[in-house]
Amino acid sequence: MKKTKESIKLKWDKYYESIYAKEMRNRKQKVEQLKERNQLDLEKKINGIDKKTIAKLKKKRADCDRHMLNEIRKLEGKPQRVYKEKKKTFNIVKFIAELMQENAKLRDTDLDGNWYCISHVMVTLFPRSMLQWWHRWSREIKNICLCFWNINAQCKDCNRTTWPRGNKVEEEKTNAIYDAKLDIKYWNWTAEKLRLLKDSYFKNDYDWRWMIGDKLLYPTKEALYKFAEDQLLENRLRWNGKTFYKPSQNWQKIWDKNKSDFIVNEK
Ligand SMILES: [Zn+2]
Repeated sequence: MKKTKESIKLKWDKYYESIYAKEMRNRKQKVEQLKERNQLDLEKKINGIDKKTIAKLKKKRADCDRHMLNEIRKLEGKPQRVYKEKKKTFNIVKFIAELMQENAKLRDTDLDGNWYCISHVMVTLFPRSMLQWWHRWSREIKNICLCFWNINAQCKDCNRTTWPRGNKVEEEKTNAIYDAKLDIKYWNWTAEKLRLLKDSYFKNDYDWRWMIGDKLLYPTKEALYKFAEDQLLENRLRWNGKTFYKPSQNWQKIWDKNKSDFIVNEK
């Protein structure tokens, strides 16, 4: 088929339609997940998702139009317009948090990938296939999201119990064991310290320092840079002898590419 103005337009319209369908599927999935978790301010959260979806679609539509117009200009022998690509920002906190999850996985498993659940009463050795996540408090709480103590191996059953979805008794029981085991695994009062930090985050007396690793520090660019390098080193060391799974990303490569220019996402 010969390329015409109309065929180009049709092509990009179809492409946008597929993007639209995909975004709508994503939205539906997110809303269902929210409903399943029995969230308190459900309506507000769904509104937030909708706003984000609309903004994203608007941007995609504009991108499609730009590409389409350029293609038409080319067809008509006119010079194409050059658009500046928006530079992606590298979020160092997100990067470290993800790297720490892998490090915690390596820390909590033996050479064959066996591990213990942090919130089981019984000391049961689980196989690697059951490995799950494991935050005591949400990763959204910035001042403890980079704290070692907040991430521990937890089994699927316990993980499911601690979703806020109704059975408060079971949830409290599981979290109580989690806290008791935190004190054994790390240090006395670890669970209490985590809880206090978490509470302070939502109060006016918020301490601007974060628990980074196991130290209370201001989340400056320098501190985060150093911690990222520490975590990369730890990652390399902890892989020693572990063959049961592969690194989820090439952390060093990502770091080398972005370490000179990154953003710190503070409160
Ligand atoms: Zn468990």
